[in-house]
Amino acid sequence: MTVPSTDSSFAPSSPETPAPAPAPVAVAWGDGIGPEIMDATLAILDAAGARLDVRPVEVGLSVYERGQSAGIGPEAWDTIRQTRVMLKAPITTPQGGGVKSLNVTLRKTLGLYANVRPVVSLHPYVPCRFPDMDVLIVRENEEDLYAGIEHRQTAEVTQCLKLITRPGTERICHAAFALARQEGRKRVTCMVKDNIMKVTDGLFRRVFQEVATEYPDIEADWRIIDIGAAMLADRPEQFDVVVCPNLYGDIISDVVAQIGGSVGLAGSANLGQGVAMFEAVHGSAPDIAGRDLANPSGLLSGAVMMLGYLGQGDVAARVRNAWLRTLEDGVHTADIPDGPHRVRTVGTRAFAAAVIDRLGQAPEHLAAVQPPAAPTLVVPPPTPRPDKQLVGVDVFVDWDHDGALPAARDPDIIAGLLRAQPTDDIDLVMITNRGVKVWPNGLPETFKTDHWRCRFQKRDGAPVERRQVVALLGRLVDRGVDVIKTENLYTFDGVQGFSLGQGQ
Ligand code: NAD
Repeated sequence: MTVPSTDSSFAPSSPETPAPAPAPVAVAWGDGIGPEIMDATLAILDAAGARLDVRPVEVGLSVYERGQSAGIGPEAWDTIRQTRVMLKAPITTPQGGGVKSLNVTLRKTLGLYANVRPVVSLHPYVPCRFPDMDVLIVRENEEDLYAGIEHRQTAEVTQCLKLITRPGTERICHAAFALARQEGRKRVTCMVKDNIMKVTDGLFRRVFQEVATEYPDIEADWRIIDIGAAMLADRPEQFDVVVCPNLYGDIISDVVAQIGGSVGLAGSANLGQGVAMFEAVHGSAPDIAGRDLANPSGLLSGAVMMLGYLGQGDVAARVRNAWLRTLEDGVHTADIPDGPHRVRTVGTRAFAAAVIDRLGQAPEHLAAVQPPAAPTLVVPPPTPRPDKQLVGVDVFVDWDHDGALPAARDPDIIAGLLRAQPTDDIDLVMITNRGVKVWPNGLPETFKTDHWRCRFQKRDGAPVERRQVVALLGRLVDRGVDVIKTENLYTFDGVQGFSLGQGQ
């Protein structure tokens, strides 16, 4: 399929100037409502004169059903790597094990580390309790719990690794400030839970504060994610740009899209270094698929961001202005909350036709859009490596006290087993269960699973030799201790790189 406009009224160049080559874009029609909203979106872009060379790619359900567990095949990867820009309709992720989320795979494989979701109130045309809200959520897209590293370790306990990295956090915080500056926004708010996760979320907040010093023209503040999310849902107009790790960003961006009027309205950009993917924030809505009911606005909003990215800001503004005018004229799909400004409820195709009819018009009341520019992402230089010292090891042990009930499991017994041999090197200093200290001096009331973290260090906290750790593990295995994993304890430039046990 090729899409460039045949409508000469939108021709971008005079006959003397050769028209710029159409931008190659990989396009995935997706699942559920995907094909309907993609057709509608492409029809609008085509009529608006978007200079695109559309290269279809097949991803999603049909690929999963052919047995490719990633939902994408080699041909699609080749096309995306050639175009480096993708417009993607929502994908249905099959339930159950053995299948990877295609969305997460695409974002991580292509290094699309910044997920950018603007939500602006279109009140009163789209009824919204917050007429002044205009928020840009910048979500880290690759790390955090979405690293997808999960294990079942004992009969009772599973874990998911939360990875927050310095380079990953630097990049996303720079992206948030750079976007704020580019869009003339005033403030960036960081949301984390660093009062609990002092090492991981603590790093995110520290890096945010460091990066903020490079943007003195932008105000920087931070909030704990729980109260921050509550305030965002209650007073979104008080926020400008919000940056946060992956999971928090995933949740708050949907909350913000929903309170903005409908999840069907919001689009998002997934940006990496020289590669980008644009989409709607919502899913494939199988409940309304194939019924000409879906709102194409979310995907269209993503496509408008794509046009700005491709340097076709003039077309982007034309599309967005026609879309705003359509909403002002009361032409709405059924998902938009009913209100006094609704004149006609239409289906997907009629909505697209209404937008096309208004190309060249501007909204009368909502703010008309200036051509957006491609976001400039900053690549921060690598930071010097700190001095790293091994100072101990956490040994995780599976032990259920011969099948005792959790309340009856006695940490003194496992401590005795772990310390059976007098030693002049590393010694057991603490045992925790689900992070709570249970030895020494634990409380009998503490619930105890079969998963024990046993911390070994020198009593004076001095550095430890690697071979001492290996020897310790050998001794524990010889004593029949079921070691399920170890985690080395390090200091970095003398600063402790691990958390204390709760109650330690
Ligand atoms: P969903 O966003 O598809 O639907 C939630 C509700 O919103 C439904 O009632 C739906 O009818 C409605 N809705 C969503 N988009 C709409 C639109 N454009 N117009 C009108 N109404 C709309 O969420 P879900 O039901 O949780 O997920 C369905 C599938 O989509 C799942 O397989 C999920 O994994 C997938 N999903 C994909 C993406 C993506 O591809 N980026 C994102 C989220 C969910």
